[in-house]
Amino acid sequence: MTSLRLNVLELGLACCALEYHAAAVSENLQQQWQALVSDAGDAGDAGDTGDTGDTGEQAGAWDVLVLAGTMTHALVPTIVSAYESLGQRRAVVSFGACSISGGPYWDSYSVASVPPVPVDVSIPGCPPTPAALLRGLRDLQQTLALRACRAAAPDSVAGHHA
Ligand code: SF4
Repeated sequence: MTSLRLNVLELGLACCALEYHAAAVSENLQQQWQALVSDAGDAGDAGDTGDTGDTGEQAGAWDVLVLAGTMTHALVPTIVSAYESLGQRRAVVSFGACSISGGPYWDSYSVASVPPVPVDVSIPGCPPTPAALLRGLRDLQQTLALRACRAAAPDSVAGHHA
């Protein structure tokens, strides 16, 4: 069990944002949510200017951008701006089919079917459930902990793969 904490910044782009908020406020999931997330921000809705606020840098914590919803081409600069506003220890979760591949709108002239920022964990579904979000955040937590271990011992890891 890792002790890494996640500062989550949600970029609510469409209906999947409702499932994100359900995870954040659900009584049933509250204990799991609080065990994972040390700070949560809201980057706003589709009309946001890209000012994502301060997610706060905490020792041992990672800033996590959750893409929740349809990525229109018009919103790509906002997504990139939100990503760039995060600290150096940052990761991205794509939550739902739209933020992975365009979802049901993949062939629309106005929809981006490829995320404009590097994604660390993808959570499928249209929409995914709030519980799936928590599973995805736990997967991310473990992935980041593994990366930290590898970074701390580059020679031994490199030796295994040589
Ligand atoms: S994946 Fe489905 S539920 Fe989520 S934003 Fe797209 S259309 Fe809405």
